[in-house]
Amino acid sequence: MGDFFQRIVDVEVTQEEAGPLAERMVDWLVAEGVITREMSGDAVYSLTVDEGHVPGPNWARAVSDPSWEPAPVAVVVGRDYHVGGQGEDEAEWANCPRCDTKTVIIDYPESFEADDEVWQPFEDGIAAWKETGEGSAVCSACGVPVPITEWEWSWGFALGALAFDFWGWPPLDDSFVAEFGKQLGHRTDEHSGKF
Ligand SMILES: [Zn+2]
Repeated sequence: MGDFFQRIVDVEVTQEEAGPLAERMVDWLVAEGVITREMSGDAVYSLTVDEGHVPGPNWARAVSDPSWEPAPVAVVVGRDYHVGGQGEDEAEWANCPRCDTKTVIIDYPESFEADDEVWQPFEDGIAAWKETGEGSAVCSACGVPVPITEWEWSWGFALGALAFDFWGWPPLDDSFVAEFGKQLGHRTDEHSGKF
């Protein structure tokens, strides 16, 4: 069952805060027995980190159905986009928080690929944000440049400077996810799926 994953992305933390916050979260997760400080590269499939924390003695408390043994938990620090599901690099749609209009990027089920022309402004905005911490995309409906971190994305696409990848973990328990968010002190986005 190693090809399932659960992910929690902090969508508010800044690049500067992400490192210290990651350390505090690891301290908390170790204290709870969910993970250990021991690192392993086994079954960590993150694109940006190659090892994670070995599950702790109480890992089962974090999941709703502990029916299989999980792999390590990778902590991903740094501004990036995170994708769920089959790992497309584009969001299916982006919703403008100013005018509440949805820009369709992948026109399912007509198409399984992003419309490059539609996606380009978002891709550029994300690249600028990764580089400098600021980036925006102009909404084609209202014409307003909206910061890339304020757009609402389709499920499975999130921007953030801190993410926790629970590789091979069964679905996380709702109360654990709520407590996790409280410890972070920020809004989060959760992904799960097979890859
Ligand atoms: Zn708009």
